[in-house]
Amino acid sequence: MLPFSNRQILYPGKKIIIPGLGEFKLKRPIPYLCSSQTFTISRVADKWYVSFSLDIERIPPISHEQELVGIDLGVKCFATLSDGNTITAPLSLKKTKTKLNKLQWRNRNKVLGNRRQGIKASNNAKKYYQQLARHHAHLKNIRQDFLQKTTTEISRKYYRIRIEDLNVSGMIANHKLSAAISNLGFYEFRRMLSYKQAVFGTKVEVVDRWYPSSKTCSVCGHVQSMPLSRRIYDCGSCGQILDRDLNAAINLNYAPVNKIRMANAEFTPVDKLPANGLVGNRKQTSNCSIC
Ligand SMILES: [Zn+2]
Repeated sequence: MLPFSNRQILYPGKKIIIPGLGEFKLKRPIPYLCSSQTFTISRVADKWYVSFSLDIERIPPISHEQELVGIDLGVKCFATLSDGNTITAPLSLKKTKTKLNKLQWRNRNKVLGNRRQGIKASNNAKKYYQQLARHHAHLKNIRQDFLQKTTTEISRKYYRIRIEDLNVSGMIANHKLSAAISNLGFYEFRRMLSYKQAVFGTKVEVVDRWYPSSKTCSVCGHVQSMPLSRRIYDCGSCGQILDRDLNAAINLNYAPVNKIRMANAEFTPVDKLPANGLVGNRKQTSNCSIC
C-alpha cells in the first residue's frame, strides 16, 4: 500500500502519465515502480523532455582518497591538478564546435523570412534553424557530460579543493581566448564543484583573483613575469624548472589563508521556491546532484 499523497505513481515501462496533461510515450523506459509529484517539461532543440524527482536515501559520507588539491584551469589543458594529474577536454567538444562554426558560415545569408516585408520563411531556412538548434544542443550535451563527470571524480577523490577565482568575463573580452574559454565552461565547472560540496562533503575554496599563482615559484616564492606564451616556469632565483600550469596549481594549493574564501553554492530565486505540485522547479529537477 502506498500512503495517500498527491504523488503520481510511475509504472515501469515506456508510458508516463503527467497529471493535467495526459499520457505520453517515452523513448527510454522507466526502470522501476516509483512515484513523484514534480514534473518539469522542457524542450531542447526539437526534442521534448520530462524530468521528475525521486526520493532517495542519503548517501553515506565519503572518505576522500587525498586531502588537498589545487586546480589550475587553462585552455591548452582543461585542468592541471597540484599532484601532477591533468584533465583534458574531450576532442569531440572542439570538433563539434568547428562543425557548428562551419555550418553557420555556410548558411550565413539565410534569413527566416521578413515579417515587415511580408516574406515568408523558406523551407530551407526553417530546416537550417532546426539543424542549428540540434547542433547547439549536441555541443551542450558533450560539455555538460564532461563537466559532470570530472567534477564528480574530483569531489570523490579530494577533500579540500582550491581553485582560482577566474575573471571569466574579463577573459572572454580577450577575443583570441574568448571562443576557447566559453566553449569549455570554466564557470560551470566551478558552479558544479560548489554545489557538489553538500553531496560529497568537500570543501571548495576560491583563491583571490590577484594572487600571482602563475608568476610565483612554487619552491622558493620568487615572483617573475610570465607571459602566456611561456609554457615552462624556469625560476630566476633557484633554477627550478616546472610546467607552467603545474607550478600554478601547486601555488594555488598552498595559497596564503588571507587570499582565500569559501565558494558557496549559488541560489537563484527559483531554488528558493517551495517545490510542490506541478510548479516546475527546473534547477532542482533537471540537475542530478549525484552523477
Ligand atoms: Zn624558485
